[in-house]
Amino acid sequence: MRREIQQVHRAVPASDGAGVRLKRALGHQGIDMLDPFLMLDEFRSDQPGDYLAGFPDHPHRGFETVTYMLAGRMEHKDSAGNQGTLTAGSVQWMTAGSGIIHSEMPKQESGLMAGFQLWVNLPRAEKMRSPRYQEFTPEEIPWEAVEGGRVKLVAGMIGDHQGPVQGISVDPLMADLDVQSAITVPIRRGHNAFGYVFEGEVMGVGPGHLMVLGDGDHVEIRGEGRLLLVAGKPLREPVARHGPFVMSTREELVQAFEDYRRGTFIRR
Ligand code: MN
Repeated sequence: MRREIQQVHRAVPASDGAGVRLKRALGHQGIDMLDPFLMLDEFRSDQPGDYLAGFPDHPHRGFETVTYMLAGRMEHKDSAGNQGTLTAGSVQWMTAGSGIIHSEMPKQESGLMAGFQLWVNLPRAEKMRSPRYQEFTPEEIPWEAVEGGRVKLVAGMIGDHQGPVQGISVDPLMADLDVQSAITVPIRRGHNAFGYVFEGEVMGVGPGHLMVLGDGDHVEIRGEGRLLLVAGKPLREPVARHGPFVMSTREELVQAFEDYRRGTFIRR
């Protein structure tokens, strides 16, 4: 059974970090979340004033953040001494687990900065697991030719192609699709799925719009354009979220703020 578009939501302008201007495609009033996905931000600007402030030191607990760069350079540093620069075409899948404190700062003073940050929930049983990073260079997620276009696979499978990110609980598919005519993508039945169009027109949907897909075992993506296609197994667990913390109960959320305030947030 083919998946069809069920809903379309326009991304809303938002500001985050120390004042980075971006578009929020998921995690706003129109569509709060699509289990297990909590948020999708698109950042795209060639005006340094929109991005220079960056995301100085801040914590995360209870979920995963995925940064996928399309243009520009972003430096990442964390409380455990990890450090690296994300360049165009690279991806970082960070499982925050029990907690990390990190900064994400532009490593450029001019030019285009573009990319995405996706937030993926962790099952309740894994919210306090130890943090883990999976980081891949552009060479490790190359464009692969498929019928009807080409794909860059971050996680999951399309045909014989397998994305490099492994061992994620919600069994995700995450792919950048450059659609030239029509690309057919298998998506596991029962998994929630969405596409975010950021160039051209795909399935009658233009840039800056998120399409929620109905159930089925595949989607046929027609048109000419680019979209980020994301799918994963819904957790069907309660979500208690505020700011950079995503827990299962209000008590766990209060505990996260308390740990952060007290300086007992990072487990050593
Ligand atoms: Mn962050």
